[in-house]
Amino acid sequence: MRCAGGAVTHVGPVAPPADVVVDAAGGALLPGLHDHHVHLLAMAAARGSVDVGAGGLAALRRAPGRDWVRAVGYHESLAGPLDRDRLDALVADRPVRVQHRTGQLWVLNSAALARTGLEAAPDVAVERDANGRATGRLVRGDDLLRERIGGPPPDVGAVAGELAAFGITGVTDLTPATDRGHLEVLADAARRDGFPLEVAVTGAGALADVDVGLRRGPVKVVLDDARLPSLDDVVAAFVRARGAGRTVAVHCVTRAELVLALAAWDLVGARPGDRVEHGAVVPVELVDRLRAHGLVVVTQPSLVSARGDQYLADVEPDDVAHLWRCGSLLASGVGVAAGSDAPYGDPDPWHAIAAARDRTTPSGTVLGAGERITAHRALALFLAPLDDPAGAPRRIEPGVPADLCLLAEPLGVALAAPTAVTVRTTVRGGQVV
Ligand SMILES: [Zn+2]
Repeated sequence: MRCAGGAVTHVGPVAPPADVVVDAAGGALLPGLHDHHVHLLAMAAARGSVDVGAGGLAALRRAPGRDWVRAVGYHESLAGPLDRDRLDALVADRPVRVQHRTGQLWVLNSAALARTGLEAAPDVAVERDANGRATGRLVRGDDLLRERIGGPPPDVGAVAGELAAFGITGVTDLTPATDRGHLEVLADAARRDGFPLEVAVTGAGALADVDVGLRRGPVKVVLDDARLPSLDDVVAAFVRARGAGRTVAVHCVTRAELVLALAAWDLVGARPGDRVEHGAVVPVELVDRLRAHGLVVVTQPSLVSARGDQYLADVEPDDVAHLWRCGSLLASGVGVAAGSDAPYGDPDPWHAIAAARDRTTPSGTVLGAGERITAHRALALFLAPLDDPAGAPRRIEPGVPADLCLLAEPLGVALAAPTAVTVRTTVRGGQVV
């Protein structure tokens, strides 16, 4: 295979001469992988954070530095519900912010509430108790915190390099950003020479018309079970996206969220490219409606292997049979794509491929044996174009962008043990990255 000018120019048994020659030595050459659901800024910020998921809340006391403590990975199963008073008991002399493992919630201590001015601010994202006192809990307050805390933007280039090392050459960032600055940080990083990824961005409805020069994916619509919007609000969000010529990607992890989203699609109509993000619970009776609307479910296979036991313990008994569908959706003709949801999930697509094949939880339970797919099929979930995530896997043929992933082993060997894969070289636009 030869590439020039950023594109593949020749595939065949005899390669024309080239300036740089790479001998694949029998290793598989694949199109670069696509992660169809990531959060790049949150990944970059997580690199400078304390992981309380691994170290427990006591790790907050050992955080390096003197000023802000940023922590990630909190879940109620670690130490119950968290609020400012519990954080103050651990750390009172520095501002602390702790992110829930799902990325949907921040908890601030009193010093952090004072520093950000959120103690008194009448922002709807700041939760208050019956007496009007801020609890420290901030629902989906990422943009608000970034604006109040300031500081230099996180190093997106570094996390992009980590993703490229897995053989990934393209991502869709699904952050429901409401602040144009979020998209501009991504655009600035992506413009830099040698940036290894093609990036598509979403953003919330408020940014539906904003163009920062990156490929524009669907508008992200967030439905949170704890405070579900009205059907009218969801319909309005869809209509707004349509007005900007955009598709929609709807965050659906519960039965109620999916029912609400489908009701909106029934009224507004679906378009090719509309997506259900996660689809953590897809009741079997809704599968036909997903197919009828032509919706794509963007699943995260790694979450089953990382948190499967937690899902089995937490969801309603009626929902257990419908958790993280994959194989049954494909068999029913529903389009499926895969993403990592990094940093909230494992960014390694090879782990995800093994997880989709095995569906083994940390305790060794198989979650939904009927949902298993082959490693070969799972790889294909990472090979479709960014703008057609459940489409046919991209192929290496003359004319396509030279976005490539070279493995150290033949494909059969690689897919027999996906977690042991060695990515030798990743190429983006003809350049080794
Ligand atoms: Zn996400």
